[in-house]
Parts: sequence; C-alpha cells; structure tokens
Amino acid sequence: MDPSLPELYAFGYDKHLQHTINSLAVGWLDKGFKYNTGLVSEAFLDRLSLFCMDPVVMPFDLDGNCPLCLEYPIIDTPYGRLEFGPGELRIPGRDKTVYAAPTMIYHFIKDHKYQPPQEFMDAVLNAPLPDTKEYEEFILYWRKR
Ligand SMILES: [Zn+2]
Repeated sequence: MDPSLPELYAFGYDKHLQHTINSLAVGWLDKGFKYNTGLVSEAFLDRLSLFCMDPVVMPFDLDGNCPLCLEYPIIDTPYGRLEFGPGELRIPGRDKTVYAAPTMIYHFIKDHKYQPPQEFMDAVLNAPLPDTKEYEEFILYWRKR
C-alpha cells in the first residue's frame, strides 16, 4: 500500500499517484497512524465490499499486506470472498468529489475497528454500484482526468 495519508487529504497532481485529481483520501492507515474507531452500519459495510471486489486502480509495484497487522487478510462477505491486495477504490460523492481508498479499508473496518469519515460512508451508501451503467460512466469520466 501507499504510505499513510491524512484523512480527507485532497490530492493535487502527483506523478506517482494515478487518477487522484479532485480526490479525497480515506482510509490510508499505516502503523502508528492515529485513526477513528467505532461502529459502522452493516448496510455500509456490505455495500463497501462490492466496491472492494472491483478495484479500479491496481498498482503493480506495491505490497498487498496490511500495514497494521502485516497479514494478507481474506474475508468472506455476503457477496463473496474478498482477498486484499494493493487495489484502490474510487467512490463518487457529492459535488463531483471522488473518494480514493485502498481496498484494504474493508479489513481496517472489520478487523481494526476503523471508522471512516461520515461523508465517505454516505457516499458509499449513495453511489451507484460497480455493475451499473451509471458507475461505468463515472469511471470513464474519472479516468480522463
Ligand atoms: Zn490488519
């Protein structure tokens, strides 16, 4: 995974980061990183798993283990088995905001009690799902930026 980023960090142009303009970072945890903990809704977590199964950025040069427990977690969700790696999600939010999170965020929430910002949870609950035409259009538009 990439090194940790502050919550809701707004990306500018960075040649090392793919497709991050207008994106806000969520869940880029690392060892020693202080993060919020707490409960999240089941509906949010289930929906998040669908995005994690379909990462839109797949860096080849990064390690896929959890920076907190050093495991390569595998989690069964209601929609199937999730194996984590260095993949990344992009979730459309309000006013053209795009949230950029590692797929590992699901494991952070499930096993490390991480609680993401409310606005990210709202975006996941309201965004079109990965298998929809609406989401496909969002990804096409986002890849051009
Ligand atoms: Zn872990």
